[in-house]
Amino acid sequence: MPRRFVIQKHDASSLHYDFRLEVDGVLRSWAVPKGPSADPRQKRLAVEVEDHRLEYENFEGVIDGRYGAGAVIVWDQGTYRNLDQGRSMAETIEAGHVKVWLEGAKLTGGWTLQRTSGGEKPQWLLIKRRDDQADARRNPQSTQPESVRSGRTIEQVATDQGGREQRK
Ligand code: MN
Repeated sequence: MPRRFVIQKHDASSLHYDFRLEVDGVLRSWAVPKGPSADPRQKRLAVEVEDHRLEYENFEGVIDGRYGAGAVIVWDQGTYRNLDQGRSMAETIEAGHVKVWLEGAKLTGGWTLQRTSGGEKPQWLLIKRRDDQADARRNPQSTQPESVRSGRTIEQVATDQGGREQRK
């Protein structure tokens, strides 16, 4: 059964991409300052952050609370599967080595998340796996900045006075 993933672009005190995977009924989450790369040579820092509720995967708008004030758009969204045959997703996260195949609107293919340090805010690296979806020339953060749900950019959401509710 495929599970959901979402990547939300979040213009908080510093712009980042929140990479979230549905695991056991919640969204396990990492903040990725530069966003995911399609180039296997680009290792992207991913800081593990708080779990979010599943419903949050569709959120677009402006937040002012504990997760960092600023505009949020759904930058990519879809399903994923665990590429680790022997372990559950929860087990791979616990072990600090996650392998997933994403089927999104912008991103497809395999990515690895490798934990590099522990503590209160564990740091990981998010790295494109070497498969036929790897493409060093693609830079979807700059060529496809808009929301996959509403078509809006994060600047449009930020300046939209009604931005707390996502438009249908
Ligand atoms: Mn965030």
